[in-house]
Amino acid sequence: MTKSEKLDAIAERITAEKVTPQLAASATQLVMGEGSPDAEVMFVGEAPGAKEDELGRPFVGAAGKFLDEMLASIDLKREDVYITNIVKYRPPGNRDPLPEEVAAFKPFLLEQLEVISPKLTVFLGRHSMNVFLPQLRISQAHGRAFRKDGRVSMPLYHPAAALYNGGLRDQLLADFAGIPKVLAKIT
Ligand code: URA
Repeated sequence: MTKSEKLDAIAERITAEKVTPQLAASATQLVMGEGSPDAEVMFVGEAPGAKEDELGRPFVGAAGKFLDEMLASIDLKREDVYITNIVKYRPPGNRDPLPEEVAAFKPFLLEQLEVISPKLTVFLGRHSMNVFLPQLRISQAHGRAFRKDGRVSMPLYHPAAALYNGGLRDQLLADFAGIPKVLAKIT
């Protein structure tokens, strides 16, 4: 099986195994992720919002536009990276995902990570970070690289949090600029 076929198989199992049936019932569709299966950098957000639910693609609303801008600032395009979320269905009214929803999707996220095997995983926001690095605070961890279980990750503030906060926006852009430097150090 190619990496793409393996990713498709994960999506099929999420549907077949009826993961979070309530979320599945209230959402329009599964938002699995998109980008290059050979990406060096994989971004993990929180959960789809309204636009993502409508289009079936991650980060295509306002936060996604800012993500695209930040990618361009380090000469990357969406097609070069892989973008997904912890939870793959939109929570009603954009509420935070419940701990049990995060737990239900975690094995599938781990499988996506295994298939893509990126050099660097970027956690967008504290919810995503806390799935892997539970004890950290985003205010202290953002922009720093962590090595755990043989994988390198970097937590960042969530782009949606920066939309209405100029200080966070500048901080996110500055942290993003560190991504190529971290990549260059990973052998
Ligand atoms: N916010 C997220 O965390 N994920 C998306 O896909 C869109 C907005």
